[in-house]
Amino acid sequence: MLFEEVASYYQKLEAVSSRLEMIDILTELFKKAKKEEMKKLVYMTQGILSPPFEGVEIGMAEKLVEASIATATGFSKEEVEKEFKKRGDLGEAAEYLVSKTKLKRLSSKKFELSEVFDTMYKIATTSGEGSQEAKIKMLAELLAASSPLEARYIVRFSLGTLRLGVGDATILEALSKLVTGERKFKEQLENAYNICSDLGKVAEALAKEGIKGIENFKVELFSPIRPALAERLPTAEEILERMHGKCAVESKYDGLRAQVHVDKKSKRVEIFSRRLERLTPMFPEIAKAALEEIDAESAIIEGEAIAYNEVTGEFHPFQETIQRKRKHGVEEMSQELPLHLFAFDLMYLDGEGYLDKPYHERREKLEKIIKNKGTILLADRIIATSPKELEKYFEEAIEKGLEGIVAKELNSKYIAGARKFSWIKMKRSYKGELSDTVDLVILGYYLGKGVRAEFKFGGLLCGVYNEKKDVFETITKIGTGFSEEQMKEFKEVLDKIKVKSKPARVVSNIEPDFWVEPKYVVTVKADEITRSPTHTCGKEGDESGYALRFPRIVGGIRSDKSPEDATTTKEIIEMFKMQKKEKLQEES
Ligand code: ATP
Repeated sequence: MLFEEVASYYQKLEAVSSRLEMIDILTELFKKAKKEEMKKLVYMTQGILSPPFEGVEIGMAEKLVEASIATATGFSKEEVEKEFKKRGDLGEAAEYLVSKTKLKRLSSKKFELSEVFDTMYKIATTSGEGSQEAKIKMLAELLAASSPLEARYIVRFSLGTLRLGVGDATILEALSKLVTGERKFKEQLENAYNICSDLGKVAEALAKEGIKGIENFKVELFSPIRPALAERLPTAEEILERMHGKCAVESKYDGLRAQVHVDKKSKRVEIFSRRLERLTPMFPEIAKAALEEIDAESAIIEGEAIAYNEVTGEFHPFQETIQRKRKHGVEEMSQELPLHLFAFDLMYLDGEGYLDKPYHERREKLEKIIKNKGTILLADRIIATSPKELEKYFEEAIEKGLEGIVAKELNSKYIAGARKFSWIKMKRSYKGELSDTVDLVILGYYLGKGVRAEFKFGGLLCGVYNEKKDVFETITKIGTGFSEEQMKEFKEVLDKIKVKSKPARVVSNIEPDFWVEPKYVVTVKADEITRSPTHTCGKEGDESGYALRFPRIVGGIRSDKSPEDATTTKEIIEMFKMQKKEKLQEES
């Protein structure tokens, strides 16, 4: 299909204000694509060139893109920059400048979607000496022959800021409608996606082989699996009741989740984060240990990477471990703050997928293949058959400086990409505070008044993720507790993702001074969850929604979480119920 057509659909997507309309437009767009174009079309719509775990990063520097626009249109760099400043969006500036180009159009060539995609891929993967000039030239050639609307999206895509606001769940629903005319096939598609974490691959299999292609998805080495997530419950009694009187109880390490893929024959190791980015170069000691300390030809194991002092047995806090998520100074940091991997699951072993095997079998095998000395250690665990045992283990974990426990159902399979009761977490709590922090998506921000006027930042509008509806709902404004440094940082990063009107997947009854693309997650502590007529979190019809009382930010932006990894509406409602119960218990 022609890129021109893709661009016109993107324009339609940008103009809609509801998610359902988005699904219909996407379904139409997917209908137009040829089978062999489907993968590229889906990636492009996601604003990426390949799944995040392959590490091909789009995102040219603004200066280079400005130079390309200048070369393509005959305007000076200063004129391009002026237009950019005026509009606040380089895509729109390019659209305007291409419409007023000073140069004669070279040809009346129309681009195929694949041509645009392939050029973008080439730009992203060109490196080394002279690469900047080469990138500018390639992009300029595209822009010189594109229409103004095409230029808008080519520029945004090249900057890595396509911002269509389309989530994975929305794409899956559109794909389901494409083949069945209904949403009901979404679950199976989601299943395939959870196994391979690659929407382009799922869409391609669907386009080429139909429903059959989706049913055949299997775990593959070096293709990360979307992680299983834990529900929460507040007491040992409730956990055991839910687990039918018996379960495994593991220590909950507060580090970074790591999925390790290893193949001895090719000596290849890859480590993926909770968001499935490639962490391999950042954790060299774990990569090395994976080859030496796992007794298997090939395996996929999962664990928590955490800085841990072997001598004192002390676990370092999360704020220290997270320092290891860096691209520079890796060697020095790995000496200073070495990581250990506390392995807690096994998903693949010597050619065989383990997701469908019960937890107890996966754990037994894991115990057999991990040497359990050195860098990779087994996550500590017990089997509990009474609340008392569970409670005692929990208290010991807290004493050791751990975050809490994760209880696991003995017969449950590994449920990829979903938060289910087969895993239940319980964390330490403090009196007068919510027993857990929540992770919120920043949806907008307010300008400052008084002292804050100086920073042009007065607070945030934050929301949770409603998984069922695939939308973001507001839950709180956060106006206090920011340091000067934080105000400056928030203002700077949020300014880059400002959008003109409320994004289609945001549901809100209030208007911040500026809306932003839902992109960044922050961890927030609060005293309580309250019912709220203002906020849309969990709001159904005329009933009240939910809000946070006395919210405050803990740390900065969570680079390890995507907006869809934020706390969900369902979790907030469950936490609200838990809190009610705790209050009743305190009163009685
Ligand atoms: P949290 O912020 O509480 O870590 P989360 O949303 O990142 O929550 P959950 O699935 O809710 O993830 O909680 C389990 C998390 O705890 C995992 O993501 C993992 O990083 C960490 N973890 C630590 N130890 C274990 C363990 N033994 N088993 C499972 N997960 C563990």
